[in-house]
Amino acid sequence: MAEPRDAAAVILLSDDQRKVLWARRNPALRFLGGFHGFTGGKVDPQDDRCEVRNEPESEMRRLIACAARETFEEVGVLLVRNGEKLTRGQRASLHDDLISGREPFGAILDYWDLWLDAEDFHYTGQWTTPDFSPIRFKTHFFISVCPSRQEPYQAIDELGHIEFVNPALALERWSSSDVLIAPPVLFSVRELALQADPSMDIVRAARNLLAFSAETEGMVFHMDLNSRLVMLPMRTRTLPPATHTNCFIVGQRRFAVIDAASGDPSELEKLYRIVDQLVEAGGECGAIFVSHLHPDHHGGEAELKKHFLEKYGMAVPLVGHELTAEALDGLVSFDERLHGDDTYILKDNEGADFRLDVLHTPGHARGHLCFYDQQFGFLLSMDNVLGAGSVLINPPEGNMTVYLETLGRMRALPGLRSLCGSHGQAVHDAVGKISEYIDHRLERESMVKEAIEGGARTAEEVADIVYKGLDAALWPFAVRSAAAHLERLEELGGLEGSDAA
Ligand SMILES: [Zn+2]
Repeated sequence: MAEPRDAAAVILLSDDQRKVLWARRNPALRFLGGFHGFTGGKVDPQDDRCEVRNEPESEMRRLIACAARETFEEVGVLLVRNGEKLTRGQRASLHDDLISGREPFGAILDYWDLWLDAEDFHYTGQWTTPDFSPIRFKTHFFISVCPSRQEPYQAIDELGHIEFVNPALALERWSSSDVLIAPPVLFSVRELALQADPSMDIVRAARNLLAFSAETEGMVFHMDLNSRLVMLPMRTRTLPPATHTNCFIVGQRRFAVIDAASGDPSELEKLYRIVDQLVEAGGECGAIFVSHLHPDHHGGEAELKKHFLEKYGMAVPLVGHELTAEALDGLVSFDERLHGDDTYILKDNEGADFRLDVLHTPGHARGHLCFYDQQFGFLLSMDNVLGAGSVLINPPEGNMTVYLETLGRMRALPGLRSLCGSHGQAVHDAVGKISEYIDHRLERESMVKEAIEGGARTAEEVADIVYKGLDAALWPFAVRSAAAHLERLEELGGLEGSDAA
């Protein structure tokens, strides 16, 4: 498990204190790529050398310096005292010195007789990334106000779509699944939306956020992907590099649980906390789904069903595709078996109906299901497309031709915007991600063809060439993937003399 690294971020308000700055993180970033967030980043050893006045604690001075430096690096806003004298051109030249590594932040400030003042940074607490993430930060947040006459701009590639947004509007965009945000950003925006009406009370916002961070010890295990979709990563014995399987809770007044993936009591406890809150607010669970047969996608569903029955007298059906039910016969007792696509009607927080389309999407597994909230354009791609790692197509359960057809169908879903798979984080650009998957497979396919033309015959021989240099632990999966490609090429009639088994 990765140890969290210290980081700091700024919740930057516009000079009239009515709007907050947010920006979209570059989709290529491993940590929350494509998510909207604030300026910030990890602490640098040089951050100790910045002058921060009115703060007795060295640790806090270091965090303030980090927050200010990151904000300057990312959006060009210099949160310093005595900075009014600098022209825009001078700030740009300072920025260049910092980014190019010519001078550390502290030295730049000294040279220009600038300093940081702790009074300009209202601490709102810290949030630690839970251990389901391969990259973890303990991030300390501060509210600051953008000095007038400074305009944030895209100063480096890490952040784009930079804008000051009304907090209530920001909340609305997240709510309807237009943007993805991580929990600390959601909490901050929510609090600012409350304090901005009728006019922003920064001190009160910071105090409330600090209390909330302290109360939860700066850690939440689930992520609200929009106003009616919760992702809860549960620790499972899954394929590396993943360590968790995402369980999803869709809807509120009437909700469904998808893949209660772990039967471990401490993991189930986290799930119970979420569903209990929904039930106690008047919600009812309409179904517990198992997306497909693989063991890292079930294990807690029977316990969860029992939980609903014993605690609330609520009989909730276990639902899966008939092929999954057949494969798990004796292991999972399904109440409803689906034969193809289906639609479930769920209810949101206001009690309004919305559709959850359950899609039969074979390829990775014969009975594999995906789930689509068409109104929000949000697809739960489960094991077909992942936020991290790669999808294993393992014949005969997996089939490459069927899988590629399924990917094409998923990409063509009407209104598709975002997706989240069973492992890793949510993806803002679903169409782009699925296209990437299709291209990647077709690229592999041409490599397999080349390997065969070069004389490779068995799946091992093909894997030896196509997956050269792969981690030894992943080798058996490479052989199965090669077998899947060989099988597909044989089905397409393009192969002679190879051994697809
Ligand atoms: Zn699977």
